[in-house]
Amino acid sequence: MIDFSQDTVIESLETKKNLILQHPYSKQYTELVEKILNIQRLSDEEGLMLYQMHDLSFLALLADYVNFSKNHNVVYYNRNIHIEPTNFCVYSCAFCSYSRLIKQKDEGWKYTVDEILEIVKKYDNQPITEIHITGGVIPQQDLNFYIELFQKIKTHRNIHIKALTPVEIHYISKKAKLSYAETLQKLSEAGLDSMPGGGAEIFNKEIREKIAGDKCTTEQWLEIHRIWHSMGKRSNATMLYGHIETYEHRIEHMKMLRDLQDEAGGFQAFIPLKFRNKNNQMSHVPEVSIVEDMKNYAVARLYLDNFQHIKAYWAMLGRHNAQIALHFGADDLDGTIDDTTKIYSMAGSEEQHPSMTTEEIRQLILQAKRIPVERDTLYNPIQN
Ligand code: SF4
Repeated sequence: MIDFSQDTVIESLETKKNLILQHPYSKQYTELVEKILNIQRLSDEEGLMLYQMHDLSFLALLADYVNFSKNHNVVYYNRNIHIEPTNFCVYSCAFCSYSRLIKQKDEGWKYTVDEILEIVKKYDNQPITEIHITGGVIPQQDLNFYIELFQKIKTHRNIHIKALTPVEIHYISKKAKLSYAETLQKLSEAGLDSMPGGGAEIFNKEIREKIAGDKCTTEQWLEIHRIWHSMGKRSNATMLYGHIETYEHRIEHMKMLRDLQDEAGGFQAFIPLKFRNKNNQMSHVPEVSIVEDMKNYAVARLYLDNFQHIKAYWAMLGRHNAQIALHFGADDLDGTIDDTTKIYSMAGSEEQHPSMTTEEIRQLILQAKRIPVERDTLYNPIQN
């Protein structure tokens, strides 16, 4: 556990409160600001008011206040690698720059279980604590494939496996003719420890139909996380923003997550994912500005009162933008990654070879005047 001095916390929270009260803000926000200072739940209308607020510095103060009340000055990171078993996919999401259709066989990769195990073995002498596994969806990588993969990884090394989004779980459970609960139970027994938050995209039916119409539905995504949480397990949740959705759609999305968190309680972090427009079917849609990115972090921090952590995923946003997000409510940067994911580099992210040493991550956090803390996947601090 991290030991926070109560006096310091109160004094610093008071300082942050005073900064808010001294800020010249419009009277229309008086009630909203009071609720935020009292750490009360915001309504959907209040969430929208925040999105429509033009004063970015004020939004930063508000989000920082709430983040401090939850996480103090700590910013988390971990040592991880990603493994993407394939980039072939039976689906064709319009925003996806990563996947290839199975017939485009010269443009993709498809690892066997043993090839993945060889990747894991390359890290035998490195103190990574998490393997993040997700990728395209293909018939060959079915339930048995993942059971064998997780068992072999666990036999080789006792390391946390964070893997498979509901998009993958839905597909492999249908193929295995098993319920979601039965599939998740088998995967858990094989070694699956937690689930990442991908595949959520945007929950609004009309927009989801346009950008990701053929994969699992909103209800299925939520149901799989609900069952996983009922098993006492943890997961994250994402939202793909900055494409053809509106602020209303974002609030609708976060409302569904907030409701599920009230009910099931197993989400650890919310991860806003910025739409990037290179090499996909939506390249005509411009990317949103950094101002919009920061606003989105702040609103997420303020609206999602029952999420402990907001992650600025640096491989998607670029490390320097992620650093700024630490002042807009984010308290987690994700991990060292070691250039093991291609999902965002193929979509045009600033990070074409995402890799940071722990020292580089710590410096990034210290430059933002925050305290770096290495964590495991479940947010237990790791003492080095
Ligand atoms: S986003 Fe995921 S499910 Fe959609 S096409 Fe890309 S890899 Fe496949």
